[in-house]
Amino acid sequence: MVHLRRRARGAEPAALLDVAVVVVGLALPCWVGVVEPLLHAEHASPLEQAVSLAYPLGDVLLLGLLVPLLGLPVGRSTSTRLLGASLGLMLVADVLYSSLSASTDVVEGAVNVVYMASYLTAGAAALHPSATADPAPVASRSGAVPGRRRAVGLAGALLVAPGVLALQLVSGARLSGWAVVVAAAAMALLVVTRLDRATAEVSSAARERESLVARVAHQASHDALTGLPSRAPSLAALEVALHSQHAHPRADDRLVGLLRVDLDRFTQVNDRYGPGVGNEVLRGAADRLRALVRTDDHVGRLGADEFLVVLGRRTALELREVADLVVVALSAPLPAGDRDVAVGVSVGAALACGRGTTADALLADGGVALARAKEGGRGRAVVVDTDLRRELEEQAAVEAALVHGLAAGELVLRYQPVHELAGGAVTGYEALVRWERPGVGLVPPDLFIPVAERSDLVCDLDRWVLEEATRQMAAWTAADPDAFAGRHVAVNLSGRHLARRVVVDHVAGALERSGLDPHQLVVEITETVLVDASTAGEHLAALRALGVRASIDDFGTGYTSVAQLRNLPADALKVDRSFVSGTAADTGLLALVVQAGQAAGLRVVAEGVEHVGQLAQLRALSCDEAQGYLLARPFAPEQVPGHGTARMSPGEREGEAAGQQVRVPHQGTSALPSRAGTGAGG
Ligand code: C2E
Ligand code: MG
Ligand code: MG
Repeated sequence: MVHLRRRARGAEPAALLDVAVVVVGLALPCWVGVVEPLLHAEHASPLEQAVSLAYPLGDVLLLGLLVPLLGLPVGRSTSTRLLGASLGLMLVADVLYSSLSASTDVVEGAVNVVYMASYLTAGAAALHPSATADPAPVASRSGAVPGRRRAVGLAGALLVAPGVLALQLVSGARLSGWAVVVAAAAMALLVVTRLDRATAEVSSAARERESLVARVAHQASHDALTGLPSRAPSLAALEVALHSQHAHPRADDRLVGLLRVDLDRFTQVNDRYGPGVGNEVLRGAADRLRALVRTDDHVGRLGADEFLVVLGRRTALELREVADLVVVALSAPLPAGDRDVAVGVSVGAALACGRGTTADALLADGGVALARAKEGGRGRAVVVDTDLRRELEEQAAVEAALVHGLAAGELVLRYQPVHELAGGAVTGYEALVRWERPGVGLVPPDLFIPVAERSDLVCDLDRWVLEEATRQMAAWTAADPDAFAGRHVAVNLSGRHLARRVVVDHVAGALERSGLDPHQLVVEITETVLVDASTAGEHLAALRALGVRASIDDFGTGYTSVAQLRNLPADALKVDRSFVSGTAADTGLLALVVQAGQAAGLRVVAEGVEHVGQLAQLRALSCDEAQGYLLARPFAPEQVPGHGTARMSPGEREGEAAGQQVRVPHQGTSALPSRAGTGAGG
C-alpha cells in the first residue's frame, strides 16, 4: 500500500477528498448494517463491540486509500485491481462476521471461505509482476479534475444517504435518522469541495494554457536574435497601417512610409569575425533602428540582414529625413564584443501615395529604391520619387514590349567580324542583338539588355540569340565550308544566364539543333560575372567540356588582376575598348595586358579599333586579333559575304551595304585580305 501511495503522489488534496467521499459512502451502510445492531446487542461486552467494529471500519479506510490510484496508470494494473478485490472481499467478510456474531444464527464456515478468498487475492496482488513494474506512461491528467467514471462515483456517493433511508423506509426497519443526516451533510460538503477544487484546477490549467499559447505565438512571430517582429507580423503591420490610411484619409499630405534597410557588408563581417560578432552587429543595428523611430512606428526583421520600418504618417520630406538618419546612425561602427565593427547600410524608402497602394506594391517600391541605393555605391538612401517612379514605369513598359517583341520576332542579329592581326583574315563574327521596335526603329542593346537583365527575361533573350547565331553560322558553313569551317560565331551570355545550370542545356541544345561544330561557338562573358556568381565558373567549365570556347569580354573594366589571368576558365581575352583608344599612359597597360594574357595561354583580342594608329600599335604589341569599326561594322546577316573578309568602310553606318575594303597598314605592305565579298551589299 505504501508502495502504491508513493507512486500515486501528485494528486494529493483531491485524492484525499476522494478517499473521504468513499469512506463516508461506505461508512454509512456499515454503520446502519453493522454498528447500530452491535450497539443495540445486549449480550456483547464493550470490548467485543469495539473489536467487531474495528474490522469493517479498517476495511473501509483501506478501500478508501485505494481510490486515489484509480485515475493513475498504476491503478489500471492487474495488481491494483486484485488488491481492490481483496479489500472488497475482506470488507464483506468482516461485515458478515461482525453482523453474524451480533446475531444468533452463525455460519462461520461461509465467512471463513470469504476470508480465504480475500487472502488469496491479496497474495496474488503482491506476487503479480505488475506490482513492481513501472506503469506505462500515459498522457497525464490532472488528479483534481474527475474523469467520467469518478464523476459517476461522486454522484453515486451523494445517493448513498437517501438510498439507505429509502431502504429502511421500504423494509420497515428502524430509521437511522441522525446517522443519515450526518452522512448526507458530510457527503454534500465533501462533494461540493471536491467540485470546487476541480473548477479551480480547470481554470488554472486554462490560464496556464493561454499564457503558453501567448508565449509560443510571440516566439513564432518574433526574431529570437533581435527581439524584433519577424517577416510575417511586419508585413501584417504594413497592411494594417495602409488599411488605416485608406479608412481614415487625412487632409494633410502625411502618408504611410516604408524603409527597407539592408546592411552593406554583413557577409564580410560574418566571414571575417565569425557569426557571434555578426549576431552582435545585428542586435546593435536593431537597437539603433528602434531608437530612431517613434513608438507607434514598426521595426521588424525581414531577412538575414534586412530590416523593415513602417512609419506612421509622414510627409515626403520627413521620410527622406528619417531615411538619411538611418544611414548616418547605422554607418557609425557598431559595438560587437570588445571591438567596433563598421558595416554600413543602404536604405530604400517609399511613401504610400494613392488610395490603392497595396503592401506588396509599397514593398516592391522600397525594394527598387534599395537596389538603386546598392547600385549607386551603397551607404546611401534612395527615396522613390516622381522621377524614379516614371523611370520604373518606363522600364516596365520596355520590359513588357520586349517580352512581346521576343515572341513576335522583332529581335535581329548583326554580325561584327573579328580579324586576325598578323594575316588579316576573318577568324569569326560576334553576334550582336538589335531590337526592331515597331514605331521606334532599330534599338541598340544598351537600351534594352539592362532592362532584360533585371529578370530572367535576359535568359530567354540569350537563348534566342544562341539558337539564331548557331543556326546562321551552320548555314554559312554549309553554304561555303572552305571559308567558314575555320571561323567561329561569338555569342554574349549575361551573368544571370550563366549562373543558372540550364545554360548548359541551352547551349548543348542550340548546337544539336543547328548541327554546328562546338569549336565554332565562342561564348563571351564579362569578368565580373565569374566573381559575382560562384556557379558561373562551374557552368563555364561544363560548356568548355562540350568543346565550346570561352572569351572574357570587356577585360580591364572589372577587378581581375593580371596575376589571376592564369586561373581564368577561358580561351581568349577581349581587351576593353577603353584600353585600345586610351592615352599614351594606357599604352603601357595595354602592352601589359596583351603580354600577360598571352603568357597565361589566352588568345588576346582587341575591341573597338577605330583608327589606323591603334591597329599599328596592336600589331606592334603582337596582339592576336582585333575587332572594331575601322575593320568592319556589325553587318546584317544577308550582308555577310559568302567567303573572304567582311568588309565595310569605316564611315559606313551599321546595317548598310558593305562593299568597300578597308586598307590598313600592315607591316609596311598592304592591308586586310583583298578578296571581294560575294554576298556583300545584299
Ligand atoms: P560587347 O559584347 O563588348 O560588344 C561590343 C560592342 O562594341 C558592340 O556594341 C559593338 O557594336 C561595339 N563596337 C564594335 N566596334 C566598335 C568600335 O570600333 N567603336 C565603338 N565605339 N564601338 C564598337 P553593341 O552591339 O551596341 O553592344 C553593346 C553591348 O551589348 C555588348 O558589348 C554586349 O555587352 C551587349 N550585347 C550585345 N548583344 C548581346 C546579346 O546578344 N546578349 C547579351 N546578353 N548581351 C549583348
Ligand atoms: Mg561581346
Ligand atoms: Mg566588349
